[in-house]
Amino acid sequence: RLYNEVQDLKGNIRVYCRIRPFLPGQSKKRTTVEYIGENGELVISNPSKQGKDSHRLFKLNKVFGPAATQEEVFLDTQPLIRSVLDGYNVCIFAYGQTGSGKTYTMSGPTMTSQEDWGVNYRALHDLFQISQNRKNSISYEVGVQMVEIYNEQVRDLLSSDGPHRRYPSCSTTQPNGLAVPDASMHAVTSTADVLDLMNIGLMNRAVGATALNERSSRSHSVLTVHVYGMDLETGAVLHGNLHLVDLAGSERVDRSEVTGERLREAQHINKSLSALGDVIFSLAQKSQHVPYRNSKLTQVLQSSLGGQAKTLMFVQLNPDVHSYSETISTLKFAERVS
Ligand code: ADP
Ligand code: MG
Repeated sequence: RLYNEVQDLKGNIRVYCRIRPFLPGQSKKRTTVEYIGENGELVISNPSKQGKDSHRLFKLNKVFGPAATQEEVFLDTQPLIRSVLDGYNVCIFAYGQTGSGKTYTMSGPTMTSQEDWGVNYRALHDLFQISQNRKNSISYEVGVQMVEIYNEQVRDLLSSDGPHRRYPSCSTTQPNGLAVPDASMHAVTSTADVLDLMNIGLMNRAVGATALNERSSRSHSVLTVHVYGMDLETGAVLHGNLHLVDLAGSERVDRSEVTGERLREAQHINKSLSALGDVIFSLAQKSQHVPYRNSKLTQVLQSSLGGQAKTLMFVQLNPDVHSYSETISTLKFAERVS
């Protein structure tokens, strides 16, 4: 049944919206979210306007309101995970301004409570479970890479060279199906192995940054899970990969207010997020030319964007009225690619 759902998806790009709840201290009256429909409709109201121009309707594949649990969100993601074990390439990423819940959706708020687990851990947990169920017919091996893309440089977050790791090269020709062949590959056999690696990755990410949150909002983190399977009867092999991406914050930075390093960062983020939008847009349009080469991000993700690959984008929203203009720009990004 799950497999059929994957086949039934209209096109290979899905867009889910997730609205995070108000945090303690935020006033719930000050929301821009007017209406959430069952079938992906979302109405946003403009706090500074009245009358018929004050509302805007968006249509996504699905909208998760503030009360949606991690488990509910994952239920609609699950069929994609299974398809990785069938040899498909899948890309799941979270887009939105800083503070909109990207990391919450992808990783969760904590690593200890299973209930809080985000898409990353749940996906890996499923991968191991399904591969275990199939062990009499297919033998699977799973390898993980984790990189960060910061100012158009790709950094291995799991390098054994320590926190001042190498800057791996990135290849669009992808020998062995690896976009970043130089980034270290770690064999994993359980969810616990993955949790350990992700903790190392998070620690490495923080080094050199003023605060983890500061840095993580300005770089993209990409966890790549490679699945190699061999049919025990026929000897046929398959390779599927899963990219799990926590993107840099999409907020626009006021050019008059930042200079130097901050401005450079903002320009790199801007460039790579537009490149990602352009790639998905041209795939949705079925264009002949897909501009993968315009950023490191799209080069790293190339194998799981386009062709037979399946892409799922979470657009994350902060419901507060102060986020109104970022909310609209996030939804416009979603609208363009869906
Ligand atoms: P981002 O990664 O986009 O900057 P975070 O994931 O760090 O945003 O979320 C910002 C804050 O909101 C965090 O304190 C996080 O725990 C909280 N938060 C985000 N989404 C949810 C949610 N669905 N339920 C409860 N709290 C959430
Ligand atoms: Mg984050």
